[in-house]
Amino acid sequence: MNENEEKIIRTSGSHNCGGRCVIKAHVKNERVLRISTENDIPDTKENPQLRGCLRCRSYRNRMYNHDRLKYPMKRIGKRGEGKFKRISWEEAIDTIAENTKSVMEKYGPDSIYVQYATGNAGRVAERTWMKRLLGMYGGYLDYYGSYSTACTQIATPYTFGTIYTGSSRDTWQNSKLIILLGFNPAETIHGTNTAYYLKMAKEAGAKIISIDPIYSNTAIGLADKWIPIRPTTDSALLDAMAYVIITENLQDQDFLDKYCLGFDEEHMPSGIPEGNSYKEYILGKSKDKIPKTPVWAEAITGIPKETIAELAREYATNKPAALIEGFGPQRHAYGEQYTRSGTVLAAITGNMGINGGWASGTGYPVRQEFVASIPISNPNKSQISVYSWPDAIIRGKGMGSDLSVKGVEKLFSNIKLMFNLGGNTLVNQHSDSNGTAKILEDESLVEFITVSDHFLTPSAKFADILLPADNMMEREDIVTPWGIGDYVIYMNKAVD
Ligand code: SF4
Repeated sequence: MNENEEKIIRTSGSHNCGGRCVIKAHVKNERVLRISTENDIPDTKENPQLRGCLRCRSYRNRMYNHDRLKYPMKRIGKRGEGKFKRISWEEAIDTIAENTKSVMEKYGPDSIYVQYATGNAGRVAERTWMKRLLGMYGGYLDYYGSYSTACTQIATPYTFGTIYTGSSRDTWQNSKLIILLGFNPAETIHGTNTAYYLKMAKEAGAKIISIDPIYSNTAIGLADKWIPIRPTTDSALLDAMAYVIITENLQDQDFLDKYCLGFDEEHMPSGIPEGNSYKEYILGKSKDKIPKTPVWAEAITGIPKETIAELAREYATNKPAALIEGFGPQRHAYGEQYTRSGTVLAAITGNMGINGGWASGTGYPVRQEFVASIPISNPNKSQISVYSWPDAIIRGKGMGSDLSVKGVEKLFSNIKLMFNLGGNTLVNQHSDSNGTAKILEDESLVEFITVSDHFLTPSAKFADILLPADNMMEREDIVTPWGIGDYVIYMNKAVD
């Protein structure tokens, strides 16, 4: 082929997005001229095309942006000020290597932390290579959990023993009612064709209700009804729905008697004192003595009591019904309770284990990870919760299981060196951004920070060495969608 001719290179998005679409880069003379998407296979209900949204299709704006980082830099101002000077790759690599060596020798592997990052979610993302390298060099302090789904991943197994509580999304076509609770797949895509499957469900006759503080694109485009709710009050809504269902005897008692423990006093695990069943809690007969009535919930959620009661009746009497819990409402303190309220509601109405129902909670379907990441072997077994790294900076040495440490009894060191590769989590995801920034500014705490990114983000400003990262058009990689969709896309490199 003449090199001046336009080539079409197939790739995919690999950034922080729960979808994975087929993206086609139209390349000429080593430049991406335009971006299109899958349109060359039949688009069928059974096998819909994996069409990209505007985010990837407008990627040229990001890729060729004037502000993109283009070369390595070192900090010349105070840490966090965002003042840098261009240096060579050799100097950048030598500086990172020297600091890593010196911190490892002085403090040991508990002092080296590779920060949670999802800016590049490919199988060979830069943080994965760094973990592999550090694993071969004595190890590093690892984390467990996720900023996105920590509460639901902990809480859902309390009800079901697993986070794999969903089905494939084409089953929504069999639902009579779909309740989207803090779930906005038209914008926050989780599974490329999720909104498409909701549309198919609607065409098949399902009623869709969106409960969301925001009149979202999903509420506008897909829902028959939008119920606004005060943020972080979802659990009160769900408990009040349970109150209506129980007091009007709409629960699926056969299902409860056969499959569930803990609903009423007659079905409790042995050894549990009286008054601790779910029913007693909802009716206000347990310790807190608060009946979880619609009137009680109206004051908390801002949703009229009549609307709550009607929603409860609709959910209990329109089987199969899918109560789909989004991840947004669990991303706050006590977010586990929202997850648990939803899972119990699905159980007491028997809306699980049936085609068109949905067990709530995390909602991942059982699937296979077809392609693993590159192998990493970390000889250091210390782990902290993904939220705990500021604690581990200030008082890591001696931190134990009471402060989230797993794998060892206590940490041997505070965090002294950080890699933040392909993510803006240092200050934009963590709670108390200002407090976190203060910790990072203090060079007596973390002695060295390496960041790689496309732009000078708020997190990148805290770098001692700042590296320019490549993007989805500039590397080979392999991606799969998050949580949903059994396919793999190979990302071909489009340009250097
Ligand atoms: S859904 Fe995600 S992977 Fe697909 S085009 Fe949009 S941003 Fe890219």
